[in-house]
Amino acid sequence: MLMGIVDEDVQRVRDTADIVAVISAHTQLKKQGANWTGLCPFHGEKSPSFSVNQDKGVFYCFGCQAKGDVISFVRDIDHLDFAGAVEFLAAKSGITLRYTDQAEGDRREARGKLREAMAAAVDWYHERLLTATTCGSGASTATGCASTRSAGRPMTGTSW
Ligand SMILES: [Zn+2]
Repeated sequence: MLMGIVDEDVQRVRDTADIVAVISAHTQLKKQGANWTGLCPFHGEKSPSFSVNQDKGVFYCFGCQAKGDVISFVRDIDHLDFAGAVEFLAAKSGITLRYTDQAEGDRREARGKLREAMAAAVDWYHERLLTATTCGSGASTATGCASTRSAGRPMTGTSW
């Protein structure tokens, strides 16, 4: 079960993507023997301990033990989920993905919208918290201040 993308297509994306080219967008790689090495993009370092094997399509970091294939690299470096990483690489290679479930594409879109809405809600709440902290100064008229400001006088709004 690979998040609804047809296994065959995931395999094709993995085979088609050039792991060295993909990783080179994030760190400079040098050919060294059979492998490519460079500074690890996952942790700060001054001497290269990051190694890429182009034939096997895998990477490994001796410094922080980060490892995987081209898909997990994209997933980790761009903070995507597995399907998101596959979709990113498929788009790069011009591969059209097929989904095991016709509705999966729609659901992914809906989940993206939900994430956006959640993020907006968190921002709103965070803003209210910030506003609330300024209530003591009396500078704010936000309704969030009502409970602290109503003490000692009738709470009838601002109609007078
Ligand atoms: Zn590392």
